[in-house]
Amino acid sequence: MEEAIRIYGLEPGQWIELEWPPTAGLWDPGNVYATEFEPCEAHAEPDDAGAWDDCPDCQDSVREVIERMAQWKWTTELRIYQIGFDAGGNERDEEVYSDNAFEVAIIEQDPREILIGSPGEGRQW
Ligand SMILES: [Zn+2]
Repeated sequence: MEEAIRIYGLEPGQWIELEWPPTAGLWDPGNVYATEFEPCEAHAEPDDAGAWDDCPDCQDSVREVIERMAQWKWTTELRIYQIGFDAGGNERDEEVYSDNAFEVAIIEQDPREILIGSPGEGRQW
């Protein structure tokens, strides 16, 4: 709320209404990539290929690297009102500004923890 006031700089007689709670939307799914497979020192020869699958040291060479964190944006409806008068001189609320996607917060998350769709091959759960 203070943030909204700071951004929009309210005039005297104006006020802000925010819908609460805000809704979260996935803004950026982020990016994760796996490093190249490299056999460990004990299994460096191509002849050792049969052992790679069962060797934890070999398997450890493939790491998942988070290149970019996923971002969720929390947005809400923001409206700024001021007192106005209708033709008959009666006070009424006048909407002077509205934003359907006012940004409240951004949170970051490990992209691997985002669940989109159903579990499938190649996903981490
Ligand atoms: Zn190995």
